[in-house]
Amino acid sequence: MTQRVVTLAHYYTQPEIQQMADKVGDSLELSLFAREAEADIIVFAGVRFMAETAKILNPNATVILPDAGSTCSLVTQTDVAALKTWRESYPDHVHVSYINSSAEHKALSDWIVTSRNVDDIIAHLYEQGKKVIFSPDRNMGAYLNYQYGYDMPLWSAVCEVHDKFNEAALNEALGAVNGEAYLIAHPESPLPVLKRADYVGSTSGMLNWVKQFSGNPEAVIFVATEDGILYNMGLARPDLDLRQAPIYAGCQCNSCPYMKMNTIEAVKRAQQGIGLKIDYLTPAQMDAARLPIERMLDFSQRYYA
Ligand code: SF4
Repeated sequence: MTQRVVTLAHYYTQPEIQQMADKVGDSLELSLFAREAEADIIVFAGVRFMAETAKILNPNATVILPDAGSTCSLVTQTDVAALKTWRESYPDHVHVSYINSSAEHKALSDWIVTSRNVDDIIAHLYEQGKKVIFSPDRNMGAYLNYQYGYDMPLWSAVCEVHDKFNEAALNEALGAVNGEAYLIAHPESPLPVLKRADYVGSTSGMLNWVKQFSGNPEAVIFVATEDGILYNMGLARPDLDLRQAPIYAGCQCNSCPYMKMNTIEAVKRAQQGIGLKIDYLTPAQMDAARLPIERMLDFSQRYYA
């Protein structure tokens, strides 16, 4: 019998991979799609925590990551045993974890969030009088504490791609523009960059901001996130002057090395069943990790329906 193969691609993969995919999206969109996908094989052109999330949500499917090396610095910088000790030191707090985390990490969490719904979910928890700890992204947590006046204790890991953005390079780039310039930024960026931004939001949020931009068509728009999204932004608004935000003079190197391991050849091989099969999670691990993810998905479906 022919196997039903569904290929998912994150916005940060190269354009040719996105063109091969059945669905392109951010973490939240791909998680929702994976949950409902009627597939024997899900090829996840993204990074490992995303493929694990797909497996947790659709345990009957065979989920394949094209390249076993596609990890994420937010995962590799988090020692799960240390995280457990940290979590246990706040017994009266709700543990909210960003989706960029391993399955074991998710199993130690009460809620999972994405960059799209993190503001609303944490606001919802504070409205209920809860105390919150946030992991693993300290930049995102610092921004939330700054923006909303929270005092969440934070775990300390960073996205090695977004953490390179810095105020000095941005000031130089913005100052060199003759005319109007905007900065839009992902909340994995450092706080000084986010304070400077005209818009802070998820990958999809940034894409929508660009799609709906109705300001001066001559303006330069600097985009502080992984460079893959420039492809989608350019397709949506070829009329705009969209530029990758700089890191230092002359460098436009905000490319995620892990996302870019998804080569065309690797994705094609994965579609033939060759790659890292996410078959190492036990049913108990998947059940424990599924609970906080489902909580988020249910919230998102109610809130954003
Ligand atoms: S861009 Fe950053 S957060 Fe996203 S997968 Fe790469 S290292 Fe992880």
